[in-house]
Amino acid sequence: MIIKSHHDRVVKPNMEDYQQMYSRFSWDAAMDKLDMLPNGNGLNIAHEAVDRHVAGARRDHLAIRWLGKSGEVRDYTYTQLRGLTNHFANILQALGIGRGDHVFTLLGRLPELYITALGTLKNGSVFCPLFSAFGPEPILSRMTIGEAKVLVTTESLYRRKIAPIRESLPFLEHVILVGENHMHTSVPGTLDYHSLIYEASGQFIIPPTDPEDVALLHFTSGTTGKPKGAVHVHNAVVAHHVTGELALDLQDGDIYWCTADPGWVTGTSYGIIAPLTNGVTMIVDEAEFDTERWYRILQDQKVSVWYTAPTAIRMLMKAGADMARQYDLSSLRFLASVGEPLNPEAVIWSNEVFGTPFHDNWWQTETGGIMIANYASMDVRPGSMGRPLPGITASIVRKLDDDRIEEITEPGVQGELALRPGWPSMFRTYLNEPIRYHKCFADGWYLTGDLAKQGEDGYFWFVGRKDDVIKTSGHLIGPFEVESVLLAHPAVAEAGVIGKPDPVAMEIVKAFVSLKDGFEPGEELMLELLGFARSRLGAAVAPKEIAFVPSLPRTRSGKIMRRLLKARELGLPEGDLSTLENE
Ligand code: ATP
Ligand code: MG
Repeated sequence: MIIKSHHDRVVKPNMEDYQQMYSRFSWDAAMDKLDMLPNGNGLNIAHEAVDRHVAGARRDHLAIRWLGKSGEVRDYTYTQLRGLTNHFANILQALGIGRGDHVFTLLGRLPELYITALGTLKNGSVFCPLFSAFGPEPILSRMTIGEAKVLVTTESLYRRKIAPIRESLPFLEHVILVGENHMHTSVPGTLDYHSLIYEASGQFIIPPTDPEDVALLHFTSGTTGKPKGAVHVHNAVVAHHVTGELALDLQDGDIYWCTADPGWVTGTSYGIIAPLTNGVTMIVDEAEFDTERWYRILQDQKVSVWYTAPTAIRMLMKAGADMARQYDLSSLRFLASVGEPLNPEAVIWSNEVFGTPFHDNWWQTETGGIMIANYASMDVRPGSMGRPLPGITASIVRKLDDDRIEEITEPGVQGELALRPGWPSMFRTYLNEPIRYHKCFADGWYLTGDLAKQGEDGYFWFVGRKDDVIKTSGHLIGPFEVESVLLAHPAVAEAGVIGKPDPVAMEIVKAFVSLKDGFEPGEELMLELLGFARSRLGAAVAPKEIAFVPSLPRTRSGKIMRRLLKARELGLPEGDLSTLENE
């Protein structure tokens, strides 16, 4: 099935011809889209995101509209954002925090999180966001690995999560507390954000910044194991900017909403940097997912570009098309999804309900930005993650031995997804883990750890994470394919598929299924689902066992944790659960 591009619409996409752009593109030329610091002082993300606009026509344009949990709205123009981020950069400077020092945040999606991020980058320090729902253990391990010098958090998070572990954080020099509702705080051993901001100057000159200076430290989602600290540099902004333009199709006047939390890489690359460098208005919602709230935001804020994740889309599907139709969503122009494979069912559903499909795109914490995408001007093949970004060479490869890689040129044959290194937002290392970093490369390729295949038409199809792939009776099966078929059944809300060890077949396919409202688990439905899957997938690939569960274990970034389903099934140790969302 193909969903034709909505190319003939009133708004022309930034990239009208993918092939042409792909063949012409160079990262050197892309650099010219950025402003650079004055006087040849280099390249700084925060200058590109904020200050450059203040010197131009967007100075009074709305940069951030913040929606508080309880209905409060706060607006920040680019000029106001420059002032506040200058204040924060001055605070750091006055505290003796400088280039390369690590500034952590443990904050909900408050305006101060965004100000801290950009002020830290202005100061040449390294921004490292933590997800505010982390417990003390994951916080301690990340702040220890990351040698946090400064932490910005709230009073209540501090009391609950940091005070008990503070003694174990020898590198931590300063804790800055953001008070609720602009209230001042006075907790011993901490500084008060609002007093500091008030006292600091609003003038700040960004120090010379080498494009290779470290800017961001992001821990991976930890879906397959212990999170790694991926290190990114200021030069990454070239890729953030270009992908905002080409893959998210951000245009002048757009109201853009990325629903990801900056605690994950998506929430920083595309929830802070790319929208601001592209000069659009971005929505920040403090609250967690809620179907009605989300539809209301899309409607009332007139969101035109929306970037979210498959879990959320599946929840919206679960609530039904009728709910969506109660809202005026006519401002939506471009919909994109990332984080997990997007089931074809979700693409087709969104096209029917929103009049435009979700455009799946693929990338990782390590790649720093979107690498493979469905673009506005390209037809969408539901279930495919699209084609490589201009400037990116992607291929399907197989390892011959530790040093040698062979490209698989035959279409439709699965292998490991590999990328040619060298794009600007490529991670520069895993913090303190150089060996783990070097293991990601072989024979001139960066190996992603994901399996995929490429069609004759050049589109890439995700198969599964290497660790999740199921080996059964001589076949290699990606869980995504099986999950997608189960999801096409009207009763199924979500599915997670694993390989369960079996003496004969090596592994058998087992599915965990959660149901939509109005459906009851039971023998009859189980047999129906087994038959449904078998008729579409064939006996070799279809699940042999189905278990009904109320919900699936997920990372806080919304990814199904198949390794945990498997560990539980087998009674094995559950491993690192620091990113597990409360079930
Ligand atoms: P860890 O590496 O610690 O196990 P993680 O891989 O989940 O965690 P991220 O970097 O946040 O951490 O996620 C990137 C991974 O998410 C990709 O390698 C891929 O497996 C999956 N992914 C992201 N986007 C897509 C997509 N559009 N389709 C399929 N898989 C995707
Ligand atoms: Mg990963």
